[in-house]
Formats: sequence, C-alpha cells, structure tokens
Amino acid sequence: MTDELNREHILIVRCGEVALKGMNKPYFERMLLERIRKLLKKFDGVRAYRHEGLIYVRADKDMNPGAEGRDRIIREVGKVFGVASISPAKECLSTMESIGETAVEYMMEAIEERGVKTFKVEAKRADKNFPVKSPDIARQIGAAVLKGCKVLKVDVHNPDVRLFVDVRHDMSYIYQDKIPGFGGLPLGTNGKGMTLLSGGIDSPVATWMMAKRGMLIEAVHFHSFPYTSQRAREKVEELASLVATYCGRFKMHVINILPIQEQIVENCPEEETTILVRRFMMRIAQELARETECNMLITGENLGQVASQTAEALTVTDASVNMPVMRPLIGMDKVDIMDLAREIGTYEKSIEPYEDCCTVFLPKHPTTKPKLERILESESRLDCDRLIREAVESRETVNIYPAE
Ligand code: ATP
Ligand code: MG
Repeated sequence: MTDELNREHILIVRCGEVALKGMNKPYFERMLLERIRKLLKKFDGVRAYRHEGLIYVRADKDMNPGAEGRDRIIREVGKVFGVASISPAKECLSTMESIGETAVEYMMEAIEERGVKTFKVEAKRADKNFPVKSPDIARQIGAAVLKGCKVLKVDVHNPDVRLFVDVRHDMSYIYQDKIPGFGGLPLGTNGKGMTLLSGGIDSPVATWMMAKRGMLIEAVHFHSFPYTSQRAREKVEELASLVATYCGRFKMHVINILPIQEQIVENCPEEETTILVRRFMMRIAQELARETECNMLITGENLGQVASQTAEALTVTDASVNMPVMRPLIGMDKVDIMDLAREIGTYEKSIEPYEDCCTVFLPKHPTTKPKLERILESESRLDCDRLIREAVESRETVNIYPAE
C-alpha cells in the first residue's frame, strides 16, 4: 500500500474556527475544501481531500512538485481563509515499525539539511484502538530515532526539532512545523460586499478583513482622469490583484467621478467638497451593489482626525445610503492598520506615490463637523439622481486576477 503513496508531499491542513461552528461545521468544511481545490487547479496532479476532520493536500504518485512548488502550495493554501495552520508531513502506515522508519527518515533529512542535533518526540493517538499509548509511542519512536541517527541527542526542554507523531486509523503522520494560516471563514460563507477601493493603505486592508469573514468581494474605484493619471489607475488594479490573492478573482467597476466633482465645485461651498464627493461615491457604490447582489458596502474609513472621518462626517456619509456599511478598521490605530497591510503584502504597493481623486479639488479648510441639513441643501442645487445614474452607466468593469 505504501507504494501507492507519495509520502514526501503531503500537507496537513487544519481548519480553525471552522471546526467550532456546531451545526454549520460540515458546510464550512466543505466550502473550505472547495476553496483549496479551486486554487490547486493550477498545480498539476496535486489533490486535496478531507478525512477525519482534517484536510490533506498531496501530489499524485510520480508527481513531484519539488521544493519550490511545495513552498508555493504552502504559501497559497496559507492564504485561504478558514485555514488555521499547515504542516508539511511524511505519511506512513499506522504500525510502530513504519512510524519508526519514517521518523528516522525525517530526522536524517533534518540533519542533512539543517544540521539538527537534538530532538524530542511528541505523540498523539486519534485512534484509541491503536495498541500503544501516546507516551509509549513517543518513547519507542524516540529510541528508534536515536538508534537510526547516531548524531542525535534527546533534549526535552529545548530541542532543535519537536517531532510530532500523529497516529490515525490507517495512516500516521510525522511532522515538525505548524505554519500558521490567517484563520477566518471560507469565502462564500457570508454574503457579498461592494468595497470602495482607493489606492491607499486602508481600503485594501478593510476589504481583506471582510473577505476573511467569508464575504465575497466586488469592488468600485473612482478616479478623476485626466487629473489623476493612467498610472494611478494601474496602481489600483495592481493593488486589487494583491487582495485577489486572498479573495480570488473579482470584478472591479472603474468610474470617472470628475463630472460630479466639477458640478460640486461649481455649485456648492468649497469646504463641503470632500464630504459631498464621499456621499456620491457611497450612493454610486450602493447602486452597483444592488445591481450585483451585494448585501453591504465596505470602506476603509477609520474614526480619526481627517475631515472626512470625524464622527459627524461619518454620520453624514452614512445618511447617504440605506445599505449597511462595513467599516472594519473603524476602531484601529493607524500603526496597526499599517502593520496588517505589511503582513498581507499590500503596504508597499499602497505607498507608491500616485494621485487620488480625493486630493483633486481638495478644499483648503474642509468642514470637520458637517450638518446634514446644510449638506442636503447643497445637494439640492445638483441633479443628484442624474449624476449618479450617469456615473453608474459610464462605468468600465474589469476582471481582477490574483497577482502571481
Ligand atoms: P484609504 O487609505 O483607503 O485611501 P484614507 O485613509 O485615505 O483611506 P479617505 O481618503 O478619507 O481615507 O477614504 C476613506 C474611504 O473611502 C477609503 O478607505 C475608501 O473605502 C473610500 N475611497 C476613498 N477614495 C476612493 C476612491 N478613489 N475610490 C474608491 N473608494 C474610495
Ligand atoms: Mg485615500
């Protein structure tokens, strides 16, 4: 039977929160497996399956994705929401002999590759009918490793390698690392959100956070061409592609908001420009959301000092739409948002210096405490419905693919 297996290339994938969701558990696990299978399509001969509460990823016999391929698979599976951790493992039959041989093989490689000197074995028995108890498995396998690898010593306190032996019904697994995933819930388990994606630091992080809760993503981006450049727009598409490495391919609607900005500048008080533009963005996003069956809007807004994000400004922004607006960053500190942006890999792209439509026509003294009645009064000077309709109709929709 062992010959049928590709013992070198198995990954154990653990589902985090997914496992805690009671009645929903089978559904979440199925969705997670589906997500992993989808991303593995591009790796020839690599398959995923579920067994006894874990997901396994393995290459077919004779298919060797190589160290580089394996690292890439680990990296990509690690980006699937719902994955708590991944362990590259060796698989063997659940007999003490087979486990011992495989543990020796594993440690020999660790010695060759990393000059490992000390180890400790920890064993776990999912199969309670297995004739040897966990502490005895650890002891006996430890002894087998010592015999097979003469240079090694046991160190129970601070070993170079903590070798885990996981004994399951037919098969057992030998591994060392638990590479953490991001956790969360599998995509597609929690509705769909229309995210307002700028080229900044915040909105990609906000989008990522909602996707992490299982929400499918569709996006809208506003520009003010020719005041904002073609390159600025490309930057946003590249940024979106980075987000897509987590939430998969999605659609982004790109809209020139300049005609609206010009109407506002011409007809309304200068200090209200920012908040008025923001309200238009929200209403346009809401129209698109309704059309594309999104349940919510997502923004990168944060309760802070900038004019458009005071409590008063957010209240006035909110009043422009009746769809729920998710602002996952609302209570976070900027440094923490920046750290998260680095961790998910969007930061470097976000800080590339390109113009944003919000900085075009930026008022000198924007109002920080807008009053809804006054804003509505200003808007009454504009043909809002027509402007929104024309903006929606003028949109260009692009497919955003995950960055390589
Ligand atoms: P970000 O870092 O996301 O750009 P910010 O701190 O610059 O946010 P604002 O410019 O006030 O804050 O924007 C607040 C939110 O409004 C953004 O997070 C985003 O969701 C949305 N938004 C702003 N500009 C645009 C744009 N050009 N296209 C789409 N959405 C936008
Ligand atoms: Mg911005």
